Amino acid sequence: MSTATLPDELSPAAREFAAGPHRLLIGGEPVAAADGATLTTVDPSTARPIAEFAHAGPADADAAVAAARAALDGDWGALTPAARGDLIHRLAEAVEANAAELAELESLDTGKPLKLARIVDVAKTAEHLRYYAGWPTKLTGEVIPVSQPGVHVYSRREPVGVCAQIIPWNFPLLMAAWKIAPALAAGATTVLKPAEQTPLTALRLGQLALEAGIPPGVVNVLTGDGATGAALVDHPGVAKIAFTGSTAVGREIGAAAGRSLKRVTLELGGKSANVILPDADLDTAVKGSFQGIYYNTGQACNAASRLFVAADRFDEVVSRLAESAGRARVGAGLAEGTQLGPLISAEQEERVRGYIDSGRRDGAELVAGGGTPEGAGDGYFVEPTLFTAAADDIAIAREEIFGPVLVASPFESLEEVAARANAGEYGLAAGVWTRDVGNAHRLAALLQAGNVYVNTWGPSDAAAPFGGVKASGIGREHGRPGLEAYLEDKTVWIAL
Ligand code: ADP
Ligand code: MG
Repeated sequence: MSTATLPDELSPAAREFAAGPHRLLIGGEPVAAADGATLTTVDPSTARPIAEFAHAGPADADAAVAAARAALDGDWGALTPAARGDLIHRLAEAVEANAAELAELESLDTGKPLKLARIVDVAKTAEHLRYYAGWPTKLTGEVIPVSQPGVHVYSRREPVGVCAQIIPWNFPLLMAAWKIAPALAAGATTVLKPAEQTPLTALRLGQLALEAGIPPGVVNVLTGDGATGAALVDHPGVAKIAFTGSTAVGREIGAAAGRSLKRVTLELGGKSANVILPDADLDTAVKGSFQGIYYNTGQACNAASRLFVAADRFDEVVSRLAESAGRARVGAGLAEGTQLGPLISAEQEERVRGYIDSGRRDGAELVAGGGTPEGAGDGYFVEPTLFTAAADDIAIAREEIFGPVLVASPFESLEEVAARANAGEYGLAAGVWTRDVGNAHRLAALLQAGNVYVNTWGPSDAAAPFGGVKASGIGREHGRPGLEAYLEDKTVWIAL
């Protein structure tokens, strides 16, 4: 494929990698799909193709799982914990050494602002790897004090086996790190399946893993679509599935894992309630709430997409948010000064526009955005959009939109807002803005969510568990719980 359509802003290194060819990474080797199939990744800022990449099918899933198994039974399984930790550190170093290129590739493939890709996606990827690089030497079992004479009983922590790790398009490199770092720390091996919209940085990360000295077959990268992911989910050689994506697909994967009794963790959708109490510092609350929804163009599972504001502050908060939305610079990911990039795809743009139409039809009042930003060109751009809504039961107030659309409503009391925030099916995140420490803790306890943010939105750290309750998922990533998901406990009995 010609590189003629790639944006001029790209550095030579990023341009060369983006141009391809993009093959699967199986057992340390770049290979075409067994049937030669390909897909095309598109630049969402221009709607132009970037490059073709391999579309893996069941035969490729077989080969990748076999390679992952061989590495587990071979080189990788034989490494000492210290050596394993060292290799994960080296991968973190390789990510940092190639940070500029990775950020460009991420910005190109997702449309997100280059600066964000650099300071969030790439920087957090290295941090995440470093955090888990410290764990292999700390996976202690225990001696178990059984009430029988003449035996010694202890537990071993063993890697779960070959993992299938399926990730979405909103933070492609970071989601890859969230998946592979704990798996490698546990001593497992993996087949990583990036989203069909964003294959580039996962492929580059797979290369960097090899360059860092991680043995071939430990990290395999199968690019492809939902059918590729399903082939991995159904593969009998896979012991554990880790999935981040939509609740609809998560339900299917959870059901399949239930039938096959594979271990599974699911990080799914959200409609996260953000509550501004009457005593909040409005400057920080408005700024944080704006970032909470419009960051990454609303394409974040923990987006602050449902805003509740104390009734006597409602008009002020809404008008300040609307003003900020009107001023936001929407543009191409690689363009200087862009605050909000495009949506990921034509399909996602259509979906978001459909929700904006439904909000209007359902009687919500449009107070900002709703259309196409001026001078947007052919990319998938939608203005940052703000609705106020009286009813909680309309689609835009209940369903995950995954775009730059905020729905705000007033409330009167703490109990009322907690009940309304908890009424939905999701439970990923919730936020509270207040100066009253008592109300902060009361709401933190009352809100049904895996994560509660007080006077901030969406901070993240490899040490702090992240995940959802209700339809937002099963299990936690980060910290010790994130590691436990990749370990099995074995109880050993020794007759003395
Ligand atoms: P979205 O709708 O936002 O694209 P999805 O949940 O469809 O989110 O996709 C998230 C990831 O799951 C992607 O890597 C996608 O290819 C993969 N995927 C989609 N459908 C399936 C499926 N049935 N089984 C396994 N993986 C799937
Ligand atoms: Mg793309």
